Amino acid sequence: MVNFVGAGPGAVDLITVRGKELLENADIIIYAGSLVNPVLLDYAKESCEIYNSATMTLEEVTDVMIEGEREGKAVVRLHTGDPAIYGAIREQMDILDTENIEYEVCPGVSSLFGTAAALKAEYTLPDVSQSVIVTRMAGRTPVPDRESIASFAAHHATMVIFLSTGMLEKLSEELIKGGYEPETPAAIVYKATWDDEKVVRTTVKDLAESAAKNNITKTALITVGGFLSSAYDRSKLYDPTFTHEFRQGKEI
Ligand code: SAH
Repeated sequence: MVNFVGAGPGAVDLITVRGKELLENADIIIYAGSLVNPVLLDYAKESCEIYNSATMTLEEVTDVMIEGEREGKAVVRLHTGDPAIYGAIREQMDILDTENIEYEVCPGVSSLFGTAAALKAEYTLPDVSQSVIVTRMAGRTPVPDRESIASFAAHHATMVIFLSTGMLEKLSEELIKGGYEPETPAAIVYKATWDDEKVVRTTVKDLAESAAKNNITKTALITVGGFLSSAYDRSKLYDPTFTHEFRQGKEI
């Protein structure tokens, strides 16, 4: 059996209990060396074969999985955060499908949420934004035109932008072009939940300058929107006058 496992955003104790058990039982671990915390590999058995996928091609990775599986070994493919977000797991699963190899996916805590925790923020505030746009700037991987940053910015929803720390001038331009005021609050969170985490609160127009000042060039998420400022409405769910399935509201 092959298991794709989410390693969590960085802190070793943010892997799931299931993910940790899969690491402990693995005969082969292929981990994404660029971002997975290597301390997680301490959970592996002494006899476990360990591969760093940072230097491997897709086929080299899947060959290790296929061979391991054929030898009856437990294979773990360890991805940073949650494998479903920019994890490139689909192409691996498709190859395993053609080889008739079974696999499961164990979710992980995405840096999307590690970042919210670092900010001590809630992405979905009543009357501010009830939606979260998770996206990236086009880089060597293209982004379809209909998903441009400017078109998303027009919604004024909470935005969380991956894989774009090297393009902050352009990101600011696109956000402003889409209708965000230059002074809209933004934050850069570097290595959320790692020991060297940095949280930089700034504005849409100052993203590049703030990153430069803090020597942040990669491994960061950019968040944008009113959820970073102080104004919002209270939730209905906990409003004393609001009635729902589990609680009768009171007139006050
Ligand atoms: N599957 C991962 C994302 C992989 S893409 C997840 O769910 O988090 C890699 C990008 O994710 C990085 O370029 C960076 O933008 C972001 N990232 C990953 N870990 C991070 C962390 N701990 N803090 C901030 N950003 C992170």
